Amino acid sequence: MLILSLESSCDETAAAVVKDGRTVLSSIVASQISVHAEYGGVVPEIASRQHLEAVSVVIEEALREAGVGLAEIEGVAVTQGPGLAGALLVGISAAKGLSFGRGIPLVGVNHIEGHLLAVFLEQPVEFPFLALAVSGGHSHLYRVDGVGRYKTLGQTVDDAAGEAFDKVAKLIGLPYPGGVAIDRLAATGNPEAIKFPRPLLHDGTFNFSFSGLKTAVLTHVNRHPEAKEAGINDLAASFQEAVCDVLTKKTAAAVAATGIKRLVVAGGVACNSGLRRSMARFAEKAGVELSIPAPKLCADNAAMIAVPGDYYLSNGITSGFDLDALPVWPLDKLAARFKGGA
Ligand code: ATP
Ligand code: MG
Ligand code: FE
Repeated sequence: MLILSLESSCDETAAAVVKDGRTVLSSIVASQISVHAEYGGVVPEIASRQHLEAVSVVIEEALREAGVGLAEIEGVAVTQGPGLAGALLVGISAAKGLSFGRGIPLVGVNHIEGHLLAVFLEQPVEFPFLALAVSGGHSHLYRVDGVGRYKTLGQTVDDAAGEAFDKVAKLIGLPYPGGVAIDRLAATGNPEAIKFPRPLLHDGTFNFSFSGLKTAVLTHVNRHPEAKEAGINDLAASFQEAVCDVLTKKTAAAVAATGIKRLVVAGGVACNSGLRRSMARFAEKAGVELSIPAPKLCADNAAMIAVPGDYYLSNGITSGFDLDALPVWPLDKLAARFKGGA
């Protein structure tokens, strides 16, 4: 079916037109990064207002680029959570308006489910697979048994990986969002220059912890102020190496424990070149079938929302007009909501 999908959970207003949950006819992303950058992070109230200004524009642009009229759209999928309540409500209200106005079905989609399934826009992956979601708000390892059937194997006990990148970038004087800036500096730095800790590496769980690593960077720059100047590439490379090392080794442990040899890495931090490299190295060595979507599908976008959206709508699973934002919405709860999932 031909679906219009919307995403407004954080600081990107996005709309896409996707056919059968597989073929992207258009994917428009209006980023608010420059607006939030001067505050060093996302300001929720500003985000909501920016979404309001952008939402109709991105919808029109998505339809225009796809070359389809609103009359041809057969269903609407929208990010229902997790995310900022006020930001989510803008996309949800627009989706309800389209659904009501056109008399087409509506479904609310979990943003992280979108990240995990974005890979299907490039290639099929057989279930079950393991998935590492690394983004601004998540560092989670999941077992994925089907659409709607997710089991959390481990998660961060404090900061998410993207949050760690952003916070460390801020404390060494790099602009928001910090992930890209650190990635760029790290390319010409020595990852072995500074030995940063690998938190929770041997704790026997699949959990992560990144706040201690952030403190270790702070302690290092306090003791060695030059690390923020001439040594900044080595600092960025060493920090990035520590994050990627922990993410890869914990994922490797989950592969070993479950025996599942298919792996998907998703979310904004999956754009990181160091992580892509270390995951590829591990997968090659361990004989794991690894899928990491292209960076534009790892970062926030609306096309990824259409993948589960199409599945649910095609199976008659819809949301009513009482659909409300769910700022906190663990993936494990989806199976119950969708009566057992796929
Ligand atoms: P969530 O998906 O958990 O709700 P979010 O949607 O805000 O959070 P994403 O947009 O998926 O998060 O990812 C944004 C995060 O990805 C930011 O923390 C950003 O710094 C990080 N990121 C983006 N590109 C890179 C990169 N090349 N290297 C490291 N981190 C990156
Ligand atoms: Mg974002
Ligand atoms: Fe995201």
